[in-house]
Amino acid sequence: MHSGLEYKEQNLHFGGQSLQQIAALQETPFYIYNSQSILSNIEAWQAASDPDRHHICYAVKANSNLAILQIMARQGLGADIVSGGELLRCLQAGIPANRIVYSGVGKTAAEIALALEAGILLFSVESRQELEQINECARRAGVLAAISMRVNPDVDAATHPYISTGLTENKFGIHHDQALAVFQMANRLEHVRISGIGFHIGSQLTSLDGFAAAAQKVRELIPQIESECRLELEWIDCGGGLGIQYNAEEPPAPADYMKLMDQILGIPGKQLAFEPGRHLVGNAGLLVSRVLYTKENGDRRFIICDAAMNDLIRPALYQGYHAVYPVTEHGDPASWNKADLVGPVCESGDFIARQRPLPNLQAGDLVAIHSTGAYGFVMASNYNSRMRAAELLITPEGDLHLARRRETYADLIRGEQLL
Ligand SMILES: *Cc1c(COP(=O)(O)O)cnc(C)c1O
Repeated sequence: MHSGLEYKEQNLHFGGQSLQQIAALQETPFYIYNSQSILSNIEAWQAASDPDRHHICYAVKANSNLAILQIMARQGLGADIVSGGELLRCLQAGIPANRIVYSGVGKTAAEIALALEAGILLFSVESRQELEQINECARRAGVLAAISMRVNPDVDAATHPYISTGLTENKFGIHHDQALAVFQMANRLEHVRISGIGFHIGSQLTSLDGFAAAAQKVRELIPQIESECRLELEWIDCGGGLGIQYNAEEPPAPADYMKLMDQILGIPGKQLAFEPGRHLVGNAGLLVSRVLYTKENGDRRFIICDAAMNDLIRPALYQGYHAVYPVTEHGDPASWNKADLVGPVCESGDFIARQRPLPNLQAGDLVAIHSTGAYGFVMASNYNSRMRAAELLITPEGDLHLARRRETYADLIRGEQLL
């Protein structure tokens, strides 16, 4: 059983709250996040860091709800963003601009201008053309843009191919062979200031080997760059990607990852940035759904629930595994038979769990789909004209907060115009 969950009188409780009771008031499906578990994840990073040298920038794309960002802001975290929209969210939630790093291969001129105006810490540059664009935007704004170069170290992160980002075949970063040349180019540009170097090799990494290999490659580049460009890099961005336990994985602890980065990249006078996303919020969230129908096709048992791939796309997109708990205790899991838990969307790829031991659930029963706090709601869509789910947050004080209401039919057609 994942932490934060417990059956009390056969009723599943999350962060001390009865899911049955919440579902009596809140239409399903809904996401629910537990602040306490987010806070203890943050604590695991902060306890291992030296605030004068280590900086934790939450990767906003994992879960960008304003209330979640407020928790990050209150704990003193910075942010790693990938769009102008994420920048606006961070500022709205109180994350100071000077703790925000901006990553991504396709920042538009308008987004760059917005970030320059806000005064972010630095842009993580992913190509020569982007570098020129940042220089041009900074010229127009009459400011100096601080930049860090994201190096593609060409190392295998040993994760699902769709969330691997540090290989030559991935679109991310500047290939390590070209890094020096691009730094030299940046050095000649008038409106950028070279501030750092970094890498981010993928997500849901459960071994430190990939991190070590990437850090080593970047470590070797640093003296070359500093002597050839006659400058001192101030920031080293170690990226994010630390994995979590969905099923039987045994990911390293933040302290071990930070210690390893310190061993390889802890150069006196340099600041290290870490960009955890999934690790801070993934295990702190549930998607709660109600069973609509059950049926059998030959020997295949289907449980059709009201959550679908438009609510949670990880199973379809990454073969993601999410533990499923019946909200009412259903005997010994060893006695359960296999079933497919599927949603109402018209795609065979619409499943939450496939061939999974599940109890004899019936229409009206509730299930809690675990570890959906990261890359869950943020990837939700309106496919099949389904409204996006509500997001609830159990506050640090233990109260239930509606962090985002469920969409309505009016939300669904907002912005559309009849002929
Ligand atoms: C997605 C991303 C992260 C966070 O990844 P997680 O696996 O959620 O920790 C960090 N840095 C960058 C540049 C990213 O794109």
